[in-house]
Amino acid sequence: MSTNKGRVAVVTGATSGIGFEVAKRLCSDGYTVILNGLHDDKGEEKIKELADHGFTAEYSGFDVTNEEAVSSSIKAIGEKYGKIDVLVNNAGGLGGRSRFEEMTTEFYKKVMALNLDSVFYASRAAIPFLKKGEHPTIINYTSNAAWNAGGPGAGIYGTSKAGVHAITRALAKDLAEYGIRVNAVSPGTIDTPFHAQIKSTKPEVFASWANNIMLGRLGQPEDVSGVVSFLASKDASFITAETIQIGGGQALGI
Ligand code: NAD
Repeated sequence: MSTNKGRVAVVTGATSGIGFEVAKRLCSDGYTVILNGLHDDKGEEKIKELADHGFTAEYSGFDVTNEEAVSSSIKAIGEKYGKIDVLVNNAGGLGGRSRFEEMTTEFYKKVMALNLDSVFYASRAAIPFLKKGEHPTIINYTSNAAWNAGGPGAGIYGTSKAGVHAITRALAKDLAEYGIRVNAVSPGTIDTPFHAQIKSTKPEVFASWANNIMLGRLGQPEDVSGVVSFLASKDASFITAETIQIGGGQALGI
């Protein structure tokens, strides 16, 4: 734990689901963690929860699709701490479902912005501060949908995550000369608010997805946070441009 004292990690979309679990794990690893989110009240509540555990964390509210807000907020964090060691581009989501024939341009742009533009904005803003970091790293989130083009109506989500796969490798190439590593995790089906709609309308269908997973269960946020912790650590210092699947073998089927 003490090896990470003074290290600064920024986690986007960190007030729920996988993002909060990652923030909590990095806190317990000894990092000072900046949790980003959209809802300030939720952010403050989560900071209090972490403080109650004795962790050092702060909240930075901004919309990851708002270029100006992302740039100024990341700059403010970087200037406050003099560096950023870890950027976790966790924020993302389906944004709804739409088939191509009826898909509006607005929907297309919204989903691309949430999953892909956000990674570009936050990474670009963080680079000057990552250059001052200690074994600095960026961790992105792709998905099985990047390979299988997504479930019904999730074609643009899959397209955006395929873009995240590519930008992860492109950033890794571009930033290698500064010693900045860039990797991605690809969660399988993880039980978070991401699946809130199907869980509330068809809980039996959601539960049955476990039958298609080699390890016979859905993933939990903790299954992802440990891998993010590893990728951020010195133990991963020779790993860059990689994507780690965290799906209990889901990508291969059973
Ligand atoms: P989640 O819905 O619980 O969390 C997403 C978080 O992003 C929320 O806290 C939300 O408030 C935040 N967010 C959404 N739009 C935002 C915006 N514009 N600005 C800032 N924050 C915003 O879902 P999750 O499952 O924890 O997802 C985390 C990441 O994992 C996402 O990138 C998602 O695509 C990816 N993923 C999840 C699964 C899964 O099965 N849960 C599978 C593959 C990939």
